[in-house]
Amino acid sequence: MYKALLIKYGEIAIKGKNRGSFERALCDRIEERLDALGDFSVIREQGRIIVECPDEYDFDETITELRKVFGIIGICPVVVCDSIEWEDITRTALDHIRDEYPEAKFTFRVDAKRADKRYPIESPEMCMRMGESILKEFPDTKVDLHNPEVHLIVEVRNRTYIYSKTLSAAGGMPMGTAGKAMLLLSGGIDSPVAGYMIAKRGVELEATYFHAPPYTSERAKQKVVDLAKIVSQYTGPIKLNIVNFTDIQLYIYETCPHEQLTIIMRRYMMRIAEILARQSGCIGLVTGESIGQVASQTMQSLECTNAVCTLPVYRPLIAFDKQDIVDISARIGTFETSIQPYEDCCTIFVAKHPVTHPILTAIEKSELKLSEKIDELMNTALETVEVIECR
Ligand code: ATP
Ligand code: MG
Repeated sequence: MYKALLIKYGEIAIKGKNRGSFERALCDRIEERLDALGDFSVIREQGRIIVECPDEYDFDETITELRKVFGIIGICPVVVCDSIEWEDITRTALDHIRDEYPEAKFTFRVDAKRADKRYPIESPEMCMRMGESILKEFPDTKVDLHNPEVHLIVEVRNRTYIYSKTLSAAGGMPMGTAGKAMLLLSGGIDSPVAGYMIAKRGVELEATYFHAPPYTSERAKQKVVDLAKIVSQYTGPIKLNIVNFTDIQLYIYETCPHEQLTIIMRRYMMRIAEILARQSGCIGLVTGESIGQVASQTMQSLECTNAVCTLPVYRPLIAFDKQDIVDISARIGTFETSIQPYEDCCTIFVAKHPVTHPILTAIEKSELKLSEKIDELMNTALETVEVIECR
């Protein structure tokens, strides 16, 4: 049974003076994730993070949760030998090999470290002795220093840590080490993935959903809440703003050329999302757009949508093919929810032949027809935002 897990983190290690705060953020995120699973303690020592596990815990579940923590690149399950007597260490290491590699046929190398230089056996000597014991106990093994199948590491501290496997993890940067951004979250496949990807760089998320009752149902809204909850497993709680967009959409529909509807609607979404973003300290917007995926995502359309934003708009999926996005959404667990067939406000008012190459000046001219009434409608929409904490 593994009594500890060694957490490997990549890029944080190169953050110079900020390293301490990155490590602390990572420890906090690990603690939050494991809190419900048992009495784990997260220890930061000498440039590494060790999770000490309780006597009883569910290994698979623990790994699943740790894989949701951005900033971890690998997890090494560690066998802990409470003794630092060499005989005890050897026995524990051989047991570990027997358990993990039952065929006992592999090439290997051993690396050994001693935290206290007063420990009576020097590191190269430890490696040699351990190598000999393995060769003797498991005759089908062979030493290969350059490209070993099994890399056994023995670290003697106040106890001895033995490990040989690294389980892959999400990578990225710990949540809360960048700024906060506003995700435009629809019920589709793309925007939850976009949120996941930007959050993976340490960006905290808030979200906004544009709802158009009665054209879009309560269940369509619930689907977005469900998606935010899934994404929050990686990001921590997400504040979801639900904006009633119906009157704005209807007014645009009455007033503007139908082939420009989607673009103008998207521009109003961005405007409203930006106001909400600034109100809550977000320093960027995030969308699930990808060049050419639909009429509203050609470069010309993106130019028109982008023109109303003063905050940077992050589009992590901009160069992704749909299938790649689908693969990520399946992996992070949003796909099944995203494909539930509920109506979307963009598709309800969509024109038969939307412009694919809109001209910004033409769009701006159409918007002039909207007059002050659109400002009133925007104010009402902002005043009636419903907020749901998703966790
Ligand atoms: P998605 O799969 O994310 O819904 P999509 O392929 O359907 O994307 P569009 O409908 O053109 O594309 O939307 C582009 C982006 O605009 C979305 O990824 C999302 O960020 C934002 N968006 C679209 N509709 C809404 C909405 N109802 N509420 C909030 N954001 C939206
Ligand atoms: Mg959509």
